[in-house]
Amino acid sequence: MSLQNLRTHFVSEINPATDDGKAVVLSGWVHEIRDLGGICFVVLRDRSGRAQITMVKKKTDAELLDTAKRQSRESVISVTGIVKAEPKAPNGYEIIPSTITLINESASPLPMDTTGKVDAELDTRLDNRFIDLRREESTAIFLIRNQVQKSIREFLYENKFMETSTPKIVAAATEGGTDLFPISYFDREAFLNQSPQLFKQMLMASGFDRVFEIGPIFRAEEHDTRKHLNEATSIDIEMSFADHEDVMEILEKMIVRVYEDVSEKCSKSLEILGVTLKIPKLPFKKYTYENVLDIINNEIPEIETKMQFGDDIGTQAEHLFGEYVFNKTGESHYFITAWPTKTKPFYAMPNADRPEISNSFDMMHRTMELSSGAQRAHLYDVLCNQIRSKGLNVDSFEFYLKPFQFGMPPHGGFGVGCERLVMTMLELDNVREAVLFPRDRKRLSP
Ligand code: ATP
Ligand code: MG
Repeated sequence: MSLQNLRTHFVSEINPATDDGKAVVLSGWVHEIRDLGGICFVVLRDRSGRAQITMVKKKTDAELLDTAKRQSRESVISVTGIVKAEPKAPNGYEIIPSTITLINESASPLPMDTTGKVDAELDTRLDNRFIDLRREESTAIFLIRNQVQKSIREFLYENKFMETSTPKIVAAATEGGTDLFPISYFDREAFLNQSPQLFKQMLMASGFDRVFEIGPIFRAEEHDTRKHLNEATSIDIEMSFADHEDVMEILEKMIVRVYEDVSEKCSKSLEILGVTLKIPKLPFKKYTYENVLDIINNEIPEIETKMQFGDDIGTQAEHLFGEYVFNKTGESHYFITAWPTKTKPFYAMPNADRPEISNSFDMMHRTMELSSGAQRAHLYDVLCNQIRSKGLNVDSFEFYLKPFQFGMPPHGGFGVGCERLVMTMLELDNVREAVLFPRDRKRLSP
């Protein structure tokens, strides 16, 4: 048996111009029932939108009308009927029903409102995420996120990248850091991986040349900010015979492609969210870390303490600098390049002429980091030195270092946080809005 006959169309697939008079079957949720005496409307909702089911009392079978009125909100129903073009109805048509079948009744009261009439706190919404996701704004975010990931995959395939999957259970830290979740692995301790970095680099030694992965990264940071998650989705690439400049070019083109595609293919979702996308201009502006310090020290008077080479660009400075760039260029996206070697992980390539700076970059959106990347140290001795200079033990990187002794090409790559990309694109206040089921310090369920 198949249940596919419960639907001939998604709501948005009906075109009033060509489908007027056609028999259709729609299935979805009872969004709303409006009984105006002489006329009764049931609004049926599926992920693509809403359809108005119209019953004029005098012309409608009494039993059908009675069934319609008895439905509780958010119950699952199936409606068979005839399409009638109606410019005033949502999507330009209404359905004149012949049958309405209750498929599964929803209990009431509902844990939260889905109509947008009652505001709920983010926490309440996340506690009841399954139903929050029925709200058209929430659905819109994830339809767009779906397009973002689709466009990225397409763009990377077109540029000869192959999709890979690397382990999330690992024996050692990527960067020797402490921000790791330990797990018990039979009789040993293991960790959830914080980044596919080491694995994607090993694949360069395997000759895969251009790889990407869209997968989870785990960070045991005790942050409670609007931009940090403890489980995030990283869009990671690594490419051979490439330096940081080549990698930045791929990254900025990928971002523009995503903006173009979302703009073109998700216009309805953007409209629901009230967002108009401005396609970023290529190439993105590049500021070296030292340019940034100069500007902060000389052109941004709000920052009182002068910054020196090697200092972290703190939150306030990052914020003001992002505003500075936007005011100056009208663009939100930009790169900060040539970071001090000591502020970047050991795998970033030190600059050949000035080893105190690295061939690394961050890609920023206004005040937020969207991506970090670099040309990588591909020479065994350079890499071992870098590991030691970070106070780490070369022996604990044995599995990673071995490939560097047996034919490792020059390479580079980046990681972009998918949630931050969606968050900045859609001007969301909190990164949690861009994750189906966020994981943070306080939230482990649902
Ligand atoms: P930040 O300094 O903003 O915490 P990071 O430098 O630690 O970020 P990277 O290790 O460079 O992050 O990871 C690459 C990208 O992955 C980041 O630019 C960001 O977009 C995303 N990312 C990293 N950590 C998180 C997190 N905890 N929550 C959400 N996204 C993250
Ligand atoms: Mg970073």
